[in-house]
Amino acid sequence: MAENLQKPRGTKDILPDEQKYWQYVSQVVFDKCESFGCGKITTPMFEFAEVFTKSLGSSSDIVTKEMFEVRRAINPSLIEEGSETDKKTMVLRPEFTAAIVRSYIENGMKIWPQPVKLYYEGSCFRYERPQSGRYRQFNQFGVEVFGDIDPLIDASIIYLGYQILKKLGLAQNITIDINSVGCSTCRPKMRKKLTDYFEKFLPTLCTDCNKRFIENPLRILDCKEEKCQKVVEGAPQLVDMLCTECKTHFKSVLENLDIMQIPYNLNSKLVRGLDYYTKTVFEFYDSNDTARQSTLLGGGRYDNLIKMFGGSDTPAVGFGAGIERLVEKMKELEVEVPEGGRAEVSIIQIGDKARKKCLPLLNELEELGIKVTCIMGKDSLKSQLRMASRMKSKVSVIIGQREVLDNSAIVRDMIDGVQETVKMDKLIGILKGKLDKI
Ligand SMILES: [Zn+2]
Ligand SMILES: [Zn+2]
Repeated sequence: MAENLQKPRGTKDILPDEQKYWQYVSQVVFDKCESFGCGKITTPMFEFAEVFTKSLGSSSDIVTKEMFEVRRAINPSLIEEGSETDKKTMVLRPEFTAAIVRSYIENGMKIWPQPVKLYYEGSCFRYERPQSGRYRQFNQFGVEVFGDIDPLIDASIIYLGYQILKKLGLAQNITIDINSVGCSTCRPKMRKKLTDYFEKFLPTLCTDCNKRFIENPLRILDCKEEKCQKVVEGAPQLVDMLCTECKTHFKSVLENLDIMQIPYNLNSKLVRGLDYYTKTVFEFYDSNDTARQSTLLGGGRYDNLIKMFGGSDTPAVGFGAGIERLVEKMKELEVEVPEGGRAEVSIIQIGDKARKKCLPLLNELEELGIKVTCIMGKDSLKSQLRMASRMKSKVSVIIGQREVLDNSAIVRDMIDGVQETVKMDKLIGILKGKLDKI
């Protein structure tokens, strides 16, 4: 074989023995995200560079050092001359969120029923120094929810992320850090207090942090350099500088996580590497990774990004996870990878209290091997039922305000339309009986 026929640095061949893990991750992401009511989106692997320079912030390493430029046709006669867009730089996508925001606006998704819930899976490219666990081509999956500021949405997608990792066999090793980085109202106050504090320590801080001091002092908080971390220990805490609205929002996210019984850890230093985050930010780590070196899943709210792109004011929240790292963890823990399947039961909920009950119930049924989906919207009973029958569910479980109070649910046979109210503790037996009969 010729000497130069090797894969490029920082890339990886996935051989047949490892494929079952990749397939299982895709299957779990598909099952959990579809049950959550997300639709899959696929965007191009390359985009105009502005999509990322506009959103990630000019101080981010991704924009300054890590983007792969895409060459035009090697044959110059193929280049469409005079085309305006043809002169712009194109890059391989270094992440998904900005590309999906571009797509949300370009495809007019703001007129779709909100919230618009999307999930994705695919390769990203960053020209990083190859080191263990980091690749120049790597794979991510993630979720983006547009058009809903409700703190329940933040908690729900953290719940979804947690359930995905749990299904991948990683739950007992996960720590979730959470913080709020505030909004454009809190930000000037945060910057002022942080620069006042860090100014005294500039000679001690690393070169990158000296740059961050000018561009975005919040990012000093998550510097991994030991000398910077020591200084950060005494820094003012972001949660103490939140405006009333952000404080109330954050409190409610945490309350919802408590209701869903998701363990979390308040980390006042967590800001995430990208400039576009507002309010809630979160990261999932391996519990043994006390230095927070390697994020398994991370995300947050980005309520200003769509507007920054020229779209209408639309709140949004999402997360992303690196599949290489998850697969490595699964192999390390010798996780067995079973088969996936389709949904037979739809859960329908009316009102906020019922919505909170919906996800834990979904999970409970799923753990029992019942193929189940949850219609998470705020739509009427009629339109949720229509959606359930479009999904060809055999049975619907309906929870309204009265059922929340009575601790009951309505079980509706989707084939003959007959329905009955049952107590929650009888629900599983009745569902199993019905599914066996059909
Ligand atoms: Zn605020
Ligand atoms: Zn630093």
